[in-house]
Amino acid sequence: MDLELGTHHVTLRDQVGLFLDEHWPAERRDRHVPDDEIRLFRSLAIEHGYLYRGVPVVYGGSERPIDPIADDVIERAFTEARAPLGIVGQGPDMVVPTLLRNGTEDQRRELIAPTLMGDITWCQGYSEPTAGSDLASLRSRAELDGEDWVIHGHKIWTSDADRADWMFGLFRTEPDAPRHRGITFLLVPMDQPGVEVQTIMAMTGQPEFAEVFLTGARTSVRYQVGERGSGWEVSRDLLVNERNLMGFRLQQLFESVLELARTRKIGGAPAIEHPGIRRTLIDIESDLLSARFSRFRSLTNAARGRSDPNADLAGAVKKLHASTMAKRLTQFGLDLAGADEGLRAPGGASVDLGRANEPGGWAMNYLFAHASAIAGGAPNIQRNIIGERALGLPRDLRTPTGRSVS
Ligand SMILES: Cc1cc2nc3c(=O)[nH]c(=O)nc-3n(C[C@H](O)[C@H](O)[C@H](O)COP(=O)(O)OP(=O)(O)OC[C@H]3O[C@@H](n4cnc5c(N)ncnc54)[C@H](O)[C@@H]3O)c2cc1C
Repeated sequence: MDLELGTHHVTLRDQVGLFLDEHWPAERRDRHVPDDEIRLFRSLAIEHGYLYRGVPVVYGGSERPIDPIADDVIERAFTEARAPLGIVGQGPDMVVPTLLRNGTEDQRRELIAPTLMGDITWCQGYSEPTAGSDLASLRSRAELDGEDWVIHGHKIWTSDADRADWMFGLFRTEPDAPRHRGITFLLVPMDQPGVEVQTIMAMTGQPEFAEVFLTGARTSVRYQVGERGSGWEVSRDLLVNERNLMGFRLQQLFESVLELARTRKIGGAPAIEHPGIRRTLIDIESDLLSARFSRFRSLTNAARGRSDPNADLAGAVKKLHASTMAKRLTQFGLDLAGADEGLRAPGGASVDLGRANEPGGWAMNYLFAHASAIAGGAPNIQRNIIGERALGLPRDLRTPTGRSVS
């Protein structure tokens, strides 16, 4: 297999390099850049076809042909230059692809472009106190009242609920239907009297998620995504995107570990010269490379128009691998950074992969790696999917209602 870039991609890499030299010069790389400058940079990157490549121009993307190698070339160049990639989060990575596949034209035109630019933010209302891994047992319900859905229920672990403009969520609309069938996918404005948000403190010391109490909250039928009662199918689509999101930017974390290994001293010499450290770095890099090449395989299938019957399986493998790697990388970063870093009180630093080497950054990223392993489906659930679907192991025992009993 020839893994060298072809001429077309070498040219692209050079063009991206020139673009970054001009619009994200070296002096910007190590200072705090104000939000309006980042916004301007993103608009330019979209214009040049470097960001949101899978999103049509009419909805605010740059609409380029599917090209996984080009995506990789661009992502690497941006990461090396520490330039902002697209906004990461539930809106651009989960809601946008879902609307592109399942939304109405009006929903796409109204919501996608502001979501990509961060003007509209989202939270995910799936989990409930009695519905996590077994999501289909959710109880929050919505009833039609004229042109509005009226919602009563209780969501929990809702990330960013205190800041979000909208919730995308699953609500039971057909109480008598089989439990996977009677669910509808709705977009709900958060700023209204029927929505109460109570934040929950996470182990990072920050209020990362919240409980959301819905008592007569309303949303128009215009904001129903997909058919009434088909929310489960819409949510499956979205979960694949969510699990893909979890695999995000391990390379950036690896670059931060490398930077630390170059600056940290062991016995007076840079840690990166120590044979044990080098061996661990090589192990980690090999794992990252294998994940990268697996990603090429599934993206190449997509590019050749082969629909992937096992997209959710690929998502499960990717999420499990990414969360395992994130724990390993952050543990290694924490060890390299030294005792002071591990003893820092959580809450001070940001969970920002690009700033892992700031004080408290490794401690925060370490804690967050453990939390994000559970978000979007706990590791055992991913193992079940892989065991049952890929390895053909016997299915978990299930009760007549479909609940797993393990
Ligand atoms: C940081 C973070 C952010 C989150 N953000 C959101 C959000 O924005 N929106 C949202 O809706 N939810 C969110 N969640 C919730 C998350 O999706 C759930 O926590 C997750 O799906 C697990 O559900 P649960 O907490 O109810 O645990 P449970 O389902 O009760 O699972 C508990 C344990 O039992 C294991 N287990 C359960 N069933 C099985 C089985 N069949 N076989 C083997 N083991 C099993 C699990 O692996 C887990 O270890 C977030 C969670 C975290 C940690």
